[in-house]
Amino acid sequence: MRAWEANIRRVTPYTPGDQPNRPGMIKLNTNENPYPPAPGVEKSLKEFRTDCLRLYPDPKSSVLVEALAERYHVAQDQIFVGVGSDDVLALAFMTFFNSGKPILFPDITYSFYPVWAEEFRIPYETPALDGNFRIVKEDYDRENGGIIFPNPNAPTSLAMGVSDVEDILLHNRDVVVIVDEAYVDFGAESALSLVEKYDNLLVVQTFSKSRSMAGMRIGFAVGNALLIRYLNDVKYSFNSYTMNQLALKLGVEAVLDEAYFQETVAKIIRTREQARERLSELGFRSLDSSTNFLFVTHPEYQARELYEELRKEGIFVRYFDVPRIDQYLRITIGTDEQMEALYAFLEGYKALQRKEV
Ligand code: PMP
Repeated sequence: MRAWEANIRRVTPYTPGDQPNRPGMIKLNTNENPYPPAPGVEKSLKEFRTDCLRLYPDPKSSVLVEALAERYHVAQDQIFVGVGSDDVLALAFMTFFNSGKPILFPDITYSFYPVWAEEFRIPYETPALDGNFRIVKEDYDRENGGIIFPNPNAPTSLAMGVSDVEDILLHNRDVVVIVDEAYVDFGAESALSLVEKYDNLLVVQTFSKSRSMAGMRIGFAVGNALLIRYLNDVKYSFNSYTMNQLALKLGVEAVLDEAYFQETVAKIIRTREQARERLSELGFRSLDSSTNFLFVTHPEYQARELYEELRKEGIFVRYFDVPRIDQYLRITIGTDEQMEALYAFLEGYKALQRKEV
């Protein structure tokens, strides 16, 4: 080891899902939306004048903050925006989790949480999900330095009712509680209704899933104005200009088209419920999803083997080689045509397995 290596901040990085780029591939591995963003986004992109790129963007991201404040019926000083919710969450870890006491998040959850905790030297404990992969709210009733969980949880797809979220808040008035609602629009109840009541609640959402804009990188948080001020102080001490001109402009367009948003989400929910049925006919069990993905297992198949066979066919799903969930696959809901191709492959796979037995 070289001498200077002794003083390096060493981290084990988060492993994002593959971003393959094969012609004709069916990409159901990173929970993207299979439909394009709202039509106004493309229109606005076509009208975009590159001359404005000479200038720095508005550090306050005012146009986007205003649109979000109006859409979610909160004051502008209750909104924080960032470069995807990953950026918002990373800054929130840095801002709010400094007590030296362990923060709490579930053992099976978004795998970026332990990475940020380690990067920022935040101790953490991971209460186990129960045998049905549900968050046990009583496990969060103990001394801690803060709490974060996704609702619905990922990769399990299961949602907790807002009264259970409130129960966790009631038992944790002295720390910041972050509810990561990346998938909430696909059928869960949002904790946004609790923001006025609990000044220690931060709700984080993203444009990457329900608004079809993963490639643009926009996320936001809603909370008490004081909480948001602290978050902004850290942001401005790190990088004032996080949101670029184009993201601000196109992000506003996505928020304004409520009808398109509702329609796209409804389409995905419809396909998801059909997928549950079709997969069940093929012998899979899927958890009760409130997201744009299904978490599935099959009593006769090795999940890893199936994942690899699908991959060879250009059908990408997500496999986690992690205890408790290593017999599961996470399948993002695609278009109806993409899902038909998946079922067709699985029919063939089933026939092949029967022959081999
Ligand atoms: N939270 C959860 C639970 C997620 O699954 C993801 C997607 N990887 C994110 C946050 C981050 O999404 P983004 O940065 O695209 O907003």
